[in-house]
Amino acid sequence: MTKLYDLFIIGGGINGAGIARDASGRGFSVYLADKGKVGSATSSWSSKLIHGGLRYLENYEFKLVRQSLKEREVITKIAPNITKPLPFVIPHSKQSRSKLLIKLGLFLYDNIGGKTNIPKSSKIDLKKNYINILKPQFSFGFKYYDVQVDDKKLVEMNIENAKNLGAVIAENKKVINAKIDNDSWKILFEDKETVRAKILINASGPWINETINNVINISINKSIRLVRGSHIIVKKLYDEEVAFTLQNYDNRIVFVIPHKKDYTLIGTTEVDVDNPENPTISDSEKKYLINSVNNHFIKNITNEDIVKTYSGIRPLIEDFKEASKVTRDYIFDLNLQNKQAPLLNIYGGKLTTYRKLSEKVIEQLEPFLPIKNTRNWTHLKKL
Ligand SMILES: Cc1cc2nc3c(=O)[nH]c(=O)nc-3n(C[C@H](O)[C@H](O)[C@H](O)COP(=O)(O)OP(=O)(O)OC[C@H]3O[C@@H](n4cnc5c(N)ncnc54)[C@H](O)[C@@H]3O)c2cc1C
Repeated sequence: MTKLYDLFIIGGGINGAGIARDASGRGFSVYLADKGKVGSATSSWSSKLIHGGLRYLENYEFKLVRQSLKEREVITKIAPNITKPLPFVIPHSKQSRSKLLIKLGLFLYDNIGGKTNIPKSSKIDLKKNYINILKPQFSFGFKYYDVQVDDKKLVEMNIENAKNLGAVIAENKKVINAKIDNDSWKILFEDKETVRAKILINASGPWINETINNVINISINKSIRLVRGSHIIVKKLYDEEVAFTLQNYDNRIVFVIPHKKDYTLIGTTEVDVDNPENPTISDSEKKYLINSVNNHFIKNITNEDIVKTYSGIRPLIEDFKEASKVTRDYIFDLNLQNKQAPLLNIYGGKLTTYRKLSEKVIEQLEPFLPIKNTRNWTHLKKL
């Protein structure tokens, strides 16, 4: 007889991987399929930060920042080998945010996440520090801390853990159809194989609408906005283990972050796009990032300095605001067309909040799961 899995997850990005780990550890049977390699889409095209999101405070997203700061603490503990705290310096200029606003933001950032081992923020005299890096016009700044992560590894470790706990993980296995048949989901792959599950989770990231419209074939009134973010990588611009949060003329911020041993990562941008396939940086995005560095750093860079670029697509919840103001939080859409065969669509999210998101998924689906296991555990066990 064909096996009936408790959960079928479409997508092995950080969200799918986190859910697979959490659910398997609670004793549920899980099948996760990705059309490519796990962790090779948005989840490896990020800025590689586990962060509270200092700038989200400007959009009054206190709840998201609080949860993200708490998760920063948890993820640093459960994945110590792939995370490290990193100081970030914000050079101040009269044209950008006022000192008072930044001070207030940093005060909240230091305090709303609760107890932390990560150092608190401070003022920094740029006449004495980083004078070999920043232009002399930047005489004053602020320093705060966030956490750098190997994003792809974070996915792979969650997947590995899920596998060890009994989950089936299938790579290069595109789901082309999912329909309810005899009160359960029948999932069809491109290679014609089928799998059956009680509950379907759509964790296909920026492909969410494509999956809803072309794979599950249902109509949903939630609207998603696809926003490309690009990074450039150059040979390292300086030796110090410090990142910079640059404030741009358009009020956006750009991060300059040490990358691997010999490189500097610079990003990111925000460009609305129509489809999630093969995101690639445009010339104007390159120019934007280069200008941002050149406006702040003594050492100027040009197109020729770019060693590598990568771009990812943020699947943001549409609320008709400027891209930088659209929430980075996630929402769930639980579809109970057939109560025996629920469907959960996951919109948005951040690398930082994947673990909490996974717990919330189980909480939401608990009434439909065969056994009850409400004890949260992923914050206690190292990856
Ligand atoms: C430029 C940029 C920078 C970012 N920086 C940060 C950061 O520093 N910190 C942070 O916390 N967050 C950051 N984020 C957000 C974070 O990267 C994303 O929220 C997160 O990676 C989304 O994960 P996901 O699992 O939803 O999607 P993905 O990682 O895209 O995974 C979805 C998976 O679904 C698979 N899939 C799709 N359709 C099918 C199908 N039909 N069958 C099988 N598989 C399918 C895809 O192959 C893919 O692997 C950033 C995002 C971007 C774009």
